[in-house]
Amino acid sequence: MTTPSILIADDDTALLRALPQTLYLRMGDIHVDTCDSAERGLAMIREHDYDAIVSDIKMPGMDGLELLARIQELRPETPTLLITGHGEYDLAIRALRGGAYDYILKPIDRDSFVAALQRAIQAYQLRRQVVEQHIALSQHARSLEWQVQKRTSELVNANELKDKFLRIVSHELKAPLSGLKGMTQFLYKQLDEEVNKQVFKQGLEDMSHAIGRTEVLVQDLLGTSMMDSNMFVLHRKRCNLVQLCQRVLSEYTAGAGPDVTSEIVAETAEVEVDAERICQVLINLLSNARKYSVSPSTITIRLQQVGYEAWIQVEDQGVGIPQEEQQPIFEQFYRAPGIEVQSGEQTGLGLGLYIARKIVERHSGCLDVESTPGQGSTFTVILPIYINQEAISQNSENLARHTLATWTLTH
Ligand code: ADP
Repeated sequence: MTTPSILIADDDTALLRALPQTLYLRMGDIHVDTCDSAERGLAMIREHDYDAIVSDIKMPGMDGLELLARIQELRPETPTLLITGHGEYDLAIRALRGGAYDYILKPIDRDSFVAALQRAIQAYQLRRQVVEQHIALSQHARSLEWQVQKRTSELVNANELKDKFLRIVSHELKAPLSGLKGMTQFLYKQLDEEVNKQVFKQGLEDMSHAIGRTEVLVQDLLGTSMMDSNMFVLHRKRCNLVQLCQRVLSEYTAGAGPDVTSEIVAETAEVEVDAERICQVLINLLSNARKYSVSPSTITIRLQQVGYEAWIQVEDQGVGIPQEEQQPIFEQFYRAPGIEVQSGEQTGLGLGLYIARKIVERHSGCLDVESTPGQGSTFTVILPIYINQEAISQNSENLARHTLATWTLTH
């Protein structure tokens, strides 16, 4: 408890000197203010929140009972003890009715005075503690309420996302599945009739296309659910990004793919990554670049070193993305409205970039886009370079931005 502070108001100056002495002697840790009139006392009460007030009833000018009435208005919680003359019980009763905490009879018995004052101080300090605890409790209740609201809205959002997820998944899977169903029935019928090999072949090709599409959807779904449930484990190894980009391009252009020309300036750019996951990111960016640009046009893959970072840029000359869509496209299930597939593949679930960004971020890197509608987009993957102490001292001049390799792909 803090040091109690009290006020004594009495026109009897001898008593005004004696009472504080008694209190210092018997209570020790107490602060006592005194005043010789109710008017002065009132001014001090306005200034200071005392733990208790002691006042004589009979004083010239404003008397103790009037002072009590003013204290009741000003500080109704502060306990006030009034001093009455011996036998003046009617005054004592008026004091109690007026809201006094207690009364003290003259001549003042020191023990009972100290005991009454201690009771008053304790009562006030306890009440103050209760008020403080009440305030703390209501603050805590408010913060709990806020947390509950926050959690509830998170749950509502998660639930909405789950509903959206189910809606999109069932809608997206329906098309390839009903294609497969129709084609199977058609091929069965063909068996009964004279088999036309060309028709049969076309049917099988359509089926394999529908299966391929279902496969992509399932892979995206698996990817996103692993990301969200934190079951995504990276198998990081040191690898050369120049070779990794070359591998991605040859996988991507395998078969009847687009032509590629390359310009390799440096043979190595070491990073410590999960090569399969980074390939997945780059394939995704390449297939988007192809999807969202008309054929024929070029796609450029540029590998640069910028300080201790490796930048892989995939630049297309496609439809571009309006400024306001450039961040939402990295959200789950987001497909920018008005951006149509220009060539080859069909639209996906809107999960590719969400997964790609998560993968890059798990490598302590970042994935972003710059784009001008009608001119094209550049997606940049930034990864930390593998730092080798020897190379740092030898190659400090190599920290300025420089190109390591460029591949140009025409589709
Ligand atoms: P999707 O499977 O729909 O392509 P993504 O997450 O890969 O999903 O892309 C989200 C959206 O971002 C796409 O639907 C498209 O609107 C836009 N987008 C992605 N890449 C490009 C690009 N290279 N050019 C223009 N728009 C793009």
